[in-house]
Amino acid sequence: MKQKAILLFGPPGCGKGTQGKLLAEEPGYFHFSTGDMFRSLEISTPTGAKVKGFMDKRELVPDEVTLQLVQETIGRYIQEGRMKSSDTILLDGLPRNEAQVPLVNALMDVTAILYFDVPKPELLVDRMTTRAQKEGRTDDKNPDVVMRGIQIYYEQTQKVLKLYPDGLVHRIDAMGSIEDVHNTVLRILKF
Ligand code: AMP
Repeated sequence: MKQKAILLFGPPGCGKGTQGKLLAEEPGYFHFSTGDMFRSLEISTPTGAKVKGFMDKRELVPDEVTLQLVQETIGRYIQEGRMKSSDTILLDGLPRNEAQVPLVNALMDVTAILYFDVPKPELLVDRMTTRAQKEGRTDDKNPDVVMRGIQIYYEQTQKVLKLYPDGLVHRIDAMGSIEDVHNTVLRILKF
């Protein structure tokens, strides 16, 4: 049986990582961010160096590399007992283009999509550069790189939503406080 997954969906800076971490405090959920997975790679390895080249420009890492690493990492987490195969994965940052959709669907059973909607993500650029400084991220320190991430979202990622049944998609106004958005998420998932 495939592992269950809920997609955390929305533009860069919409708060899906924060919400994923909060929701993962509930039993039976595991937050899995592809960005965090890539950032944890050793840059001295060939894969790590290759991935960093894409991330620093906020370009998408090639699909095969991404899905291969996701599969390996999830397998390792289960083996190490960090994740249970019965957990619902809160998938943060994947799929990010149309080609990744069938690859994700082959691995996981997507039961819901939480769409954190921000009307104008370009207004969040300042907030994102500040966050990047605090977290020591090398990509979003540069406003041009943040804008590139937003552009990729519009051009490639938004199309992903159309490939899932409308009934799975829950649109959430992501401009509210962290607590309000979290409560909305809990209501949608019927806690
Ligand atoms: P994030 O932390 O989700 O904003 O991701 C940071 C960076 O990791 C992105 O700008 C991409 O370079 C890379 N990345 C994350 N997820 C994916 C994905 N599903 N496919 C390709 N590249 C990704």
